[in-house]
Amino acid sequence: MNIPELADKIIKQDRRALARAITLIESTKPEHRAQAAELMDALRKSTHQAVRIGLSGTPGVGKSTFIESFGMMLTGQGLRVAVLAVDPSSARSGGSILGDKTRMERLSRDPNAFIRPSPSQTHLGGVARRTREAVAVCEAAGFDAVLIETVGVGQSETVVAEMSDLFILLLAPAGGDELQGVKRGIMEMADIILVNKADGDLKPAATRTCSDYAGALRLLRKRPQDPDGFPKALMVSALQEDGLVNAWEEMTTLTNWRRENGHFDGRRAAQARYWFEQEVRQALLAQLDTPEAKTAMQDLADQVGDGTVVPSLAAQEMLTRLKA
Ligand code: GDP
Repeated sequence: MNIPELADKIIKQDRRALARAITLIESTKPEHRAQAAELMDALRKSTHQAVRIGLSGTPGVGKSTFIESFGMMLTGQGLRVAVLAVDPSSARSGGSILGDKTRMERLSRDPNAFIRPSPSQTHLGGVARRTREAVAVCEAAGFDAVLIETVGVGQSETVVAEMSDLFILLLAPAGGDELQGVKRGIMEMADIILVNKADGDLKPAATRTCSDYAGALRLLRKRPQDPDGFPKALMVSALQEDGLVNAWEEMTTLTNWRRENGHFDGRRAAQARYWFEQEVRQALLAQLDTPEAKTAMQDLADQVGDGTVVPSLAAQEMLTRLKA
């Protein structure tokens, strides 16, 4: 495969090239991994910047409904929208539930939208790398907004927040007046909380939930990367397509402010460092995954177990064998 040519086609917004690139990125074959790395490097000559929007929420809060309505609103404004997913459950089922085109039927038929399901991978780390690279490819392909969806499970929010310019938490109206058990760490990551389903009978509960979260956000330490009033809680109705323009305006206000104050590039630079470190760690861990390494680990563990060798010496021996 001619990688420089593929990169040029992507930059010229050739959809088939985009699809081919993503297939290449998702391949686990070593030669494809090398080509994917070459492609990522070649795409650096594109100067187009998208807004990368991470979106998290538990099943049923209305993520697919929101992405479809929000995506249609954006394409209606003449913008191009890509939708990607980090779906930890696809690792278990072997197939993807998120990003499935049948969930976003109208948007998937929109020529200015591109929807890609989560790659199936056994490790969240593998899914993370592929999604992160797909984000960069979509950006080079001229998309204006890249939405990265995840179900709020385990570490997936962190993974998505670390590849997004904005991290959005989608919530449903709570029954009582209690906060919905959202973990503090997730609240701290959120740039904007959207309380969805603010319509019909649910409107009063949505209003209450929104003001509870607005209060909770005010109690969090003010962040230097935010202007006054952020992070913020807003109400939307994905179903009635209400509040979506306002949500986009708030996102734009925040990104523009960050751009003007150096926090936009600063965040991307910090993320690049983070992913570099993650790749090194994963590559080192992968060295323990070979049959030889597993046998050596087992041998040494047995020797440690029966007292032949102390753990620290056995560990040194293992590292020596890995380097050999
Ligand atoms: P996901 O699992 O987070 O992707 O949630 P879905 O988008 O599949 O939505 C779950 C359910 O909530 C569906 O029955 C939707 O019709 C409903 N829903 C989504 N958005 C809204 C909304 O804004 N208002 C109301 N009333 N229902 C909604």
